[in-house]
Amino acid sequence: MAITYSEEIQVERAKTTKINSVDFNNLAFGKIFSDHMFVCDFEDGKWQTPKILPYQPITLQPSSKIFHYGQSIFEGMKAYKDENGSVFLFRPIDNCKRLNISAKRLAMPEIPEDYFMNGLKELLKIEKDWIPTSEGSALYIRPFMFATGEGFHASPADSYKLVIAFAPSGPYFSGDVKVLIEEKYSRSANGGVGFAKAGGNYAGQFYPTQLAKEKGYQQVIWTDDNTHEYIEEAGAMNIFVRINDTLLTVPTSDRILDGITRKSILKIAEDEGIKTEVRKIKVSELIEASENGSLKELFGAGTAAVVSPISGFGFKGKNYDLPKLEDTFGARLKKRITDIQTNKAEDPFGWRIKVC
Ligand SMILES: *Cc1c(COP(=O)(O)O)cnc(C)c1O
Repeated sequence: MAITYSEEIQVERAKTTKINSVDFNNLAFGKIFSDHMFVCDFEDGKWQTPKILPYQPITLQPSSKIFHYGQSIFEGMKAYKDENGSVFLFRPIDNCKRLNISAKRLAMPEIPEDYFMNGLKELLKIEKDWIPTSEGSALYIRPFMFATGEGFHASPADSYKLVIAFAPSGPYFSGDVKVLIEEKYSRSANGGVGFAKAGGNYAGQFYPTQLAKEKGYQQVIWTDDNTHEYIEEAGAMNIFVRINDTLLTVPTSDRILDGITRKSILKIAEDEGIKTEVRKIKVSELIEASENGSLKELFGAGTAAVVSPISGFGFKGKNYDLPKLEDTFGARLKKRITDIQTNKAEDPFGWRIKVC
């Protein structure tokens, strides 16, 4: 007898819905949350019965290891609804695989793919009405896992909680982004956890980013921790550089997160006949290209914003402006990827998954 996970998930419905108080035409990014969440506990060496519960606070003991040793990881993904009301995910298995890569690095238990996927799909079916449909908006999905197990001993916890929560979100508007090329601080190091979506990685970025903001920049371009000569990421996004008509990005590594948007953009660019190169990029190359006019575009790539254009960068007290182009690779690639995500275009790559 085949037991499907949907039958196994315990569902407790919320008594009321908040949905009528939400203005779906004026959504910010990640600020309001839907009525339910998916929760699964890892206890006694195994994942317990998954549950869908009303969105609610989580209570923990002060001795829970998340507070002391930061065993905490997350993912970021989106669900989309087309004009017929069908619901889609974009490369969700890749998010699950990456969650498990992060889990392994932080000595946390891996979640079986079917637990994750079935939980996510069931929650989506229940929260279908929370998926916004206006241009540029989507249901932002935040899976996260953290140590609930107790003890002040610096060792991995023996219990964990996986949660998936939803935030209907409008376009991630970043405005005119000027970035500072970082010369002192590092986001990640060789042998470190930079390739994982570990909560602490982002805490470590806040202070250098605050310093950059005080200098009039919105974001930091991270450079390699060893020499600070090579660019690595744009804030919490992968970085793309257009020099003349070639689109470049840097190879993933211990220090650079393997972004799903990054690899999708590379594939689409190739499909569109745009010449791509994946190689290390020196800060000095960027400056030279800016000075001789061959630097055409600079943009960040990630699930939230998809593509976030950069209008200029600062380095060693000097500012370098990017040209204002009419038709950018960034805008063209963003349109193609979002058209695939929202079922407005063919998906020759097999990335889009229909949920219901
Ligand atoms: C999540 C993330 C990205 C982008 O990954 P996507 O899968 O495209 O959303 C890039 N860099 C860092 C550091 C990230 O945390």
